[in-house]
Amino acid sequence: MQPYETTTRHPVEIDGIGLHHGASVHLRISPAPPGTGVVFIRTDLDNTRIPASWEFVERVSYATSLMHPKGILISTTEHLLSVLYSMGIDNAYLELDNLEVPILDGSALPFVELLSKAGTQKSRRLRRYMRIVKPVRVEAQGKSVAILPCDRFLLHCHTLYNHPLVGEQRLELDLTPDVYAREIAPARTFGFECELDQMRDMGLIRGASLDNAVCFTAAGIANPDGLRFPDECCRHKALDLIGDLALIGRPLLGLVLAQRAGHAMHVALVNKLMSDPSLYEIVTLDPSAPRKPELAAHALVQ
Ligand SMILES: [Zn+2]
Repeated sequence: MQPYETTTRHPVEIDGIGLHHGASVHLRISPAPPGTGVVFIRTDLDNTRIPASWEFVERVSYATSLMHPKGILISTTEHLLSVLYSMGIDNAYLELDNLEVPILDGSALPFVELLSKAGTQKSRRLRRYMRIVKPVRVEAQGKSVAILPCDRFLLHCHTLYNHPLVGEQRLELDLTPDVYAREIAPARTFGFECELDQMRDMGLIRGASLDNAVCFTAAGIANPDGLRFPDECCRHKALDLIGDLALIGRPLLGLVLAQRAGHAMHVALVNKLMSDPSLYEIVTLDPSAPRKPELAAHALVQ
């Protein structure tokens, strides 16, 4: 953990298509001043700005989408926000000339590589961390997600899919940029062949292919090169969860426990947390105590 807000050093750009809408899109990531947060900009619609915040969440089915009050959408935000959060980028402008963030190879690795090229620069403004002080939890139908008090950001993820190559998987993470880049970022979006027609009928996955998603068949996998990790699904769910938690707008100090949760449940947890200020405190880290900065956290008066 480092105590100061960070942004990128150089603008970087990439082209791709959206997973669900299938439209071509150009993404440019550029530095933003301290205190800005992460802000999407629709360059094709009068440079409309949409903060990457829980307050703007519009849809949570199969992907997380944000909407400006004027009805302007940014779809499938979770992978890019997951990378920015995990690499410790507090402030950035994300310019898009269409409504959906590019899916690229279905993982977060191309965004990690892009942001590595962008570099980082620290500001003099102290980061405001959100430290959980009381447990918060949402659950339904055997699924749940919770955050418990902790002085670091830890993630425990449990998934269960009825497929011979997947089954039950568990992951425990102490999130650092290196751990994220190595263990989480390469894990791709996945789907099951038996659900594809239904998803297409819902107007989803118009841009999906074996180049940007893992597709499980009845007994195996359609991708010729197979899986990147035996537990790639659980790792990808962790990637998505981090992207949704990033909508809090601050780095989190807490132990996150996810049991078979998806976007809707992640966002419900964020809403519950943000609606009750007794569950957390906003803290900064003492820059003069870099070895154990969590011990030097100071509560800020809001
Ligand atoms: Zn995903």
